[in-house]
Amino acid sequence: MRRTPRSRRDAPVGELPRLVLFDMDDTIFDHSLTCRAALVATRRAFPFLRRIPLDAQWRSYLTLLGATHGPVMLGRRSGVDARRERFARLAAQAGRRLVPDEAETLARTYRDHYQRLRRPVPGAPEAVRRLGRRTRIGVVTNNTVAEQTEKLRFLGLGDVVDPLVTSEEVGWAKPDPRIFAAALRRGRALPSEAIMVGDSWTGDVEGARSAGIRPVWFNRFRIPRPRGPAVPEFGSFRAPDVLETILRAGTPAG
Ligand SMILES: [Mg+2]
Repeated sequence: MRRTPRSRRDAPVGELPRLVLFDMDDTIFDHSLTCRAALVATRRAFPFLRRIPLDAQWRSYLTLLGATHGPVMLGRRSGVDARRERFARLAAQAGRRLVPDEAETLARTYRDHYQRLRRPVPGAPEAVRRLGRRTRIGVVTNNTVAEQTEKLRFLGLGDVVDPLVTSEEVGWAKPDPRIFAAALRRGRALPSEAIMVGDSWTGDVEGARSAGIRPVWFNRFRIPRPRGPAVPEFGSFRAPDVLETILRAGTPAG
């Protein structure tokens, strides 16, 4: 395999895209592994949860999150309320029926751990910052303004990312092309001048494509590529040629 010397890390790759858009959760911010760590800590505080093996419970939590996040990301339900429901259901799976106050306590405990144990995807904030010295960076995310603004601050990217485009604010969630159109408007770029980087094949890759934006797939867990046209992909932000992989997707030959 050809290796890229460190000195060529930020080598020119032809014409730069005007706008590079990133997904937030599980692309820059390590949402899934933060969830897992918070769940481990919550199980320590509430031992009845341990009746379910950790990995099964983690998968179950991510499934419940998928099932309850829709109205939250569009600003139609509070995150606190959805979290309470998730923990009532998780407890029920472990054989415990909770009264609302107990579900609230459990959900609050989890949230406190989640905030304490937050982590970036390894290498991602540094790569985004490096890219931000060369072109404009935006984030397109299915979540609320407050939650994602706070995450950007935590990641040290508050002054790097502009625009931050959330489903809550726009009223459409990825993969709907309208949220990408909003990002292009706010980032002052044409679809052909932008690139979208994200971990979700449906939300980020297919969504970007439906808006005419060239996608780059962040395939961290090396899952098989779904059917369809080939897309540039990378598995780690710490790969020496990561910026070139991203930027090359924006050149006509990419
Ligand atoms: Mg994601």
